Amino acid sequence: RLKEGRALAQDVWSIFNAANLPPDCLNLGQGYMNFPPPEWVREAANEALHDVAPNHYSHPRGRIRLRNAIKEFYGPQLKRDLDVESEILVTSGANEGQYSVFTAFLEQGDEVIMFEPFFDQYLPSVTFNGGKPVYVPLHPPSPDNAKPTSGDWTLDVEQLRRAVTCRTKMIIVNTPHNPVGKVFTRQELEVIASIAEEFNLLVMSDEVYDYLVFDGKEHIRIATLPGMWDRTVTVCSAGKLFAATGWRVGWLIGPPSIIQPTLAASTRIVFCTNSPLQEAVASGLEQAAERKYFETQRAEYAERRRVLTDAFDRLGMKYAMPEGTYFVLLDISSVQFPDDYPFPPSVQGRGRDFKACWFIAVEIGVSSIPVSEFYCEEHANIGEACARFSFCKDLGTLKQAADRLQGLK
Ligand code: GLN
Repeated sequence: RLKEGRALAQDVWSIFNAANLPPDCLNLGQGYMNFPPPEWVREAANEALHDVAPNHYSHPRGRIRLRNAIKEFYGPQLKRDLDVESEILVTSGANEGQYSVFTAFLEQGDEVIMFEPFFDQYLPSVTFNGGKPVYVPLHPPSPDNAKPTSGDWTLDVEQLRRAVTCRTKMIIVNTPHNPVGKVFTRQELEVIASIAEEFNLLVMSDEVYDYLVFDGKEHIRIATLPGMWDRTVTVCSAGKLFAATGWRVGWLIGPPSIIQPTLAASTRIVFCTNSPLQEAVASGLEQAAERKYFETQRAEYAERRRVLTDAFDRLGMKYAMPEGTYFVLLDISSVQFPDDYPFPPSVQGRGRDFKACWFIAVEIGVSSIPVSEFYCEEHANIGEACARFSFCKDLGTLKQAADRLQGLK
C-alpha cells in the first residue's frame, strides 16, 4: 500500500524543470544560481580532489576541518563555545539534516507545527517519518496595503497556541522564510519560543537563507533566545552561502540531546556527506570574513532584487518586497490564458497557478514556481493567486527576464 496524499505526488521542481520547458526559457523557478561558486572556493575543492583522505568517507559527523570552521563561524553568533564532537553535524544538504531530525524524533502520530505557506519538502519529510503536519497560517498583507513587504505577512499567536495538542512534538521555524521572504522579528520569535517552552516542544529552525537579509533587517537565531538552546536545532546550507546548491552540503547546530540521536539517523540514511566538497566549504567559511564575501554577496542580491521588483512595478502587478531570501511572490491572478491551452498532463489537473506559471514560462519565456505547492492540499486554493520568482541569477539574465515580463501587460 502506498503512503497516502501529497507525499508521493510528483514534486513541483521536477514539473517546472528546465528540462521540460522550452530551451530559451529563463529559469526564475527553482532556487539555484546560474553562476558558479566563488573561484577561491572552487580552488579549494580542486585541491581536496587531488588529496587522498578527502576522497574517502568522512566521519559521519562531518570532516573535522569543516566542523572547526563551523564552530569558529557560528560560535560567536550563537554566543557559545560549540563542541565539534557533539553539537555540530554536517549533513547532505539542509534537506537531509531536517529529514534525519524527523527520523530521530518523530513517533507515529506525533504532530509537527509548520507555518503555512511552508517549504514543500517539510510535508513529505514529516509524513514519511510517521509525523502529522499541523498548519498555522501566516496571514498575507492586507489588500489595502499598496506597497507591502514580506514583514506584513503576520502570525496570529492565538492560532499558534490553539494548534498545540498533547501530540505536538515540534515547531518548524523558517526565517528568512521560503517562499514568503519574511524575516521573523525578535518579538515573533520570542512568542514562538515561549509557546515552545510552555509545551516542551522541539524547535527546528531552518535558517538556510541567514546571509540573505536586506534593508537593514536583522536575522535573529531563535536558538539565542533565553532557554532556547536546549530545545532548538538550527539548520544551515552551504548551497545558499556559496552558490553551490548541487554540492549538497549543510549542517545542523544544536545541543547534544538533539545532535546525537540525529547523528544516529543520518549515519543510517547517508552514512556521511561527500568529503572533498566539505573541505571546500570549510575553506569558504575560513576566508569569508577577510574577503568580506557575505557583505558583497548581500549587496549583489539586493541589486538583483531591485531589477526584478522594478519590472513588477512597471507592470503594476502586486508583490510583497522580500526582506530576505532570493524569492518574490507575485500576484498573478490577472494573468489570462486560454482554457484549451495545451498544458502537459503534469500541469493539467493542477491549480490555476500551475497553469498560469506554465503559460508564462512557455509564452513569455520566464519560469516561476506555483505557490499552491507551498500549501497543504486543503488550503492550496489560497496559494493559487501567486507565482514565486527567484532572483538568484546574474544581472544580465534578470534584466532580460524583466524585459520579457513586460509582455504580461
Ligand atoms: N530550496 C529550493 C527552492 O525553494 C529548492 C530545493 C529543492 O528543489 N528541493 O527553490
